[in-house]
Amino acid sequence: MLHLRTLFGRKSFGGLSPADRLALVDEGALFVMRSLQQAGCEAYLVGGCVRDLAMGLVPHDWDIAVSSKPEETVQALEAAGIYAVDGGGRRFGTVIAVYGGVNYEVTTFRREVYGADAHRPASVSFADSIGEDLARRDFTVNAMALDGEGRLYDPAGGLKDLADRKLRTVGEAAERFREDALRLFRACRFLGQLDFLADRSLVDGMAPAFSRVSGLSLERVRSEVERLLVTAHAGRGLDLLVRSGLCRCACRVRENGQDTEVPILPELSHLVDLPQMKQFHKYDAWYHTLAVVEAAPARRIVRWAALLHDVGKGMPGVRHVEGEKITDYNHDHVGAAMAEEILRRWRFPEKDVHQIAWLVANHMKFHYFANVQEADVVKWVRRLAMQREFASQKELIGTIREMTDLCKADIIGCGRPFSATEGHEAFGRCMMDVAASIPVSAGELHYDRRTIEALGPAVAEGMKNLLLRVQTGELKNEPDRLYRAALRFRKRHGHDE
Ligand code: ATP
Ligand code: MG
Repeated sequence: MLHLRTLFGRKSFGGLSPADRLALVDEGALFVMRSLQQAGCEAYLVGGCVRDLAMGLVPHDWDIAVSSKPEETVQALEAAGIYAVDGGGRRFGTVIAVYGGVNYEVTTFRREVYGADAHRPASVSFADSIGEDLARRDFTVNAMALDGEGRLYDPAGGLKDLADRKLRTVGEAAERFREDALRLFRACRFLGQLDFLADRSLVDGMAPAFSRVSGLSLERVRSEVERLLVTAHAGRGLDLLVRSGLCRCACRVRENGQDTEVPILPELSHLVDLPQMKQFHKYDAWYHTLAVVEAAPARRIVRWAALLHDVGKGMPGVRHVEGEKITDYNHDHVGAAMAEEILRRWRFPEKDVHQIAWLVANHMKFHYFANVQEADVVKWVRRLAMQREFASQKELIGTIREMTDLCKADIIGCGRPFSATEGHEAFGRCMMDVAASIPVSAGELHYDRRTIEALGPAVAEGMKNLLLRVQTGELKNEPDRLYRAALRFRKRHGHDE
């Protein structure tokens, strides 16, 4: 994200003059707001964009709250030459204004009344003031507004919390979480996204709302947790998720007309305070896990692998303690089985389940190969290409890239410097180079029409044979050699046309 901090100089956003604040606002958003004001409506920038501005960040979108009802909003925008579409039933009160090729959401002030549903309000109605609209919002830093004159509205004290880097709910935490249990997960996500700490009142208000989590759909929970996982400070949010006990709650998935409970991530709880050998590890297993997640690149697959890479540690049958000596042999394979179960339960596509579990299962092997000169990397890659675990060479190379990044993060997560990862990077590159020379599927053989014609009706069987022989290193992946091998194969197998 871009930083605007230099524009503020030493001042905080609150300390800037209204004109200086406006200078930071997107021109299109300002034009939309001013057009609404000219039609006699009250219009404000609200939510994430005001928070991001106040943090010195460039907002990724600009939401506007307005006093007018949707039909009036559309009229006011069209009168100013702005293309506008009513969001309709799905987006209550929201009009999309399109200006300069950018979409701006313009939403009528709202109030919400919550009821039986764990996330959706029982009723939503239009409110009369921006104050009411801000009061329904989740966290104080998300409940600020900026008007077209650059005046800031901050009834919940968001600016102070922002300066203190504290996430706090608007109003009583337990009540706000009970109204909409998804806010529990949003809280974790914002800690990771904003690099904030949770206010004590927010933490204390979580458990009283846990009974409502069972009413949340897996889809919503998964989306928030996955967003959290790729944030810059994911460790903060994951720590709250686990230590608060939220990870031990279950949400639900509806399939074929039936609800099934889906436990969130109870498997992570046992890592908290789990000791490790001081000789290799500076931290306990949970702190180490969080450090590895944050050290891994912000990509979904490698972050999941980082979160689950040591989940098998401390499990019965894995952990052995003899005096000072603590071992977790086989934690990689036990962890991979646990990862598979978690990710299937989360209804991940099979390809993702396989890739993440593979990374967990093989991370110790990669460390071993990267550290031991005599280890035969070519043999390992050949075997991987032949195992049919990967659909293509591209997939195999991509997975080796993820593995290299996972294991580098694993080293940093042990409290070691970045320079200690150089050997792993070099080994990973070497492994990728080897993989680039070995086909994984028959489509990656460099054959031409002659080979296909030579194999005739035995083409399927013949190509399988050629692929295997190229993979073992017995045959070169070149058109002439493949053609000659095809002729010999055909002769040996003597198929009739
Ligand atoms: P991001 O930068 O991640 O988009 P955001 O603050 O814009 O952050 P959104 O989920 O896009 O987050 O929501 C926009 C605004 O709507 C929030 O800032 C908040 O004021 C309000 N909001 C969204 N979801 C909720 C909720 N579940 N409960 C209360 N207020 C909410
Ligand atoms: Mg947003």
